[in-house]
Amino acid sequence: MSAILVIGSSNTDMVVKTERFPQAGETILGGEFFMFPGGKGANQAVAAARLGGEVTFVCKVGSDIFGQQAIEGFNQENIDTRYSFVSEGTASGVALITVNGAGENEIVVASGANNELMPKDIDEAQAGFDQADMVLIQLETPIPTVEYAIQKGFEMGKKVILNPAPAQTISAATYPRLYLITPNETEAELLTGIKVTDEESADKAAAALLKLGVQNVILTLGAKGAFFKNSTTKTMIAAQKVEAVDTTAAGDVFNGALTVALAEGKDWPAAIDFASKAAAISVTRMGAQASAPLRDEL
Ligand code: ADP
Repeated sequence: MSAILVIGSSNTDMVVKTERFPQAGETILGGEFFMFPGGKGANQAVAAARLGGEVTFVCKVGSDIFGQQAIEGFNQENIDTRYSFVSEGTASGVALITVNGAGENEIVVASGANNELMPKDIDEAQAGFDQADMVLIQLETPIPTVEYAIQKGFEMGKKVILNPAPAQTISAATYPRLYLITPNETEAELLTGIKVTDEESADKAAAALLKLGVQNVILTLGAKGAFFKNSTTKTMIAAQKVEAVDTTAAGDVFNGALTVALAEGKDWPAAIDFASKAAAISVTRMGAQASAPLRDEL
């Protein structure tokens, strides 16, 4: 087993399908309503747990039915929820998603309790850090908390993976504490100023991230695959060819799976291949957490 500490957000995604988006001030009648567990942290924790990781998830939910359901869901996935905190009197994070007839979406996130995940919560999860082989974190909780957790993991000699999503800047001091960073094209552009469109530009952006002090870089390039670079080697790993139905959380499944593979001691090409296969399965199915595959399916 591989012990993984995931730190991040938990949201409830509320989705309505409509023919078109409403104009400002307009009310329209939509179609079906769906509710799914989501949030980048929770998606990555679930993906890692389904693939055999021994996952502890540090997050903060509100004292409402959504938070309660989220934690019940984590328990069902065999995730250790000792540090899945409940903030009294606060609403859980929700994402209000409208999907139009062309499959495009508009999303408004109310972070709620996710915004209350504080450095002292990270300290409270000390035993989770002690046990962990790898620490996996994103940018959907307050940045000072993220940076504090990265520093703590680094100082304890843990391998810390940052999936810098949603795209936001981080302090210069944080980069050298990262074992691995895994931006997609948009995030890589925000962090480096280099527009990533192909393998050549991916190589340039990865080089820029290595120069900032990160030890290893994986750029995810959607259906094109993933590009890996460190100080000694670089390689492009093509994505699996599949019929994409819903690419929501492809990156989350990729990161969860990758962390499991690395924690099990797989080398870079094997770990990236494992993550690509898991992500490819997820894009053939609807939903975020719901689409994450089980180990047998790979
Ligand atoms: P994000 O969801 O964070 O934007 P990407 O879109 O880059 O991340 O996807 C992450 C990984 O998921 C890719 O590197 C690839 O391995 C896989 N993936 C994404 N979209 C597809 C697709 N259409 N077909 C096959 N694999 C995909």
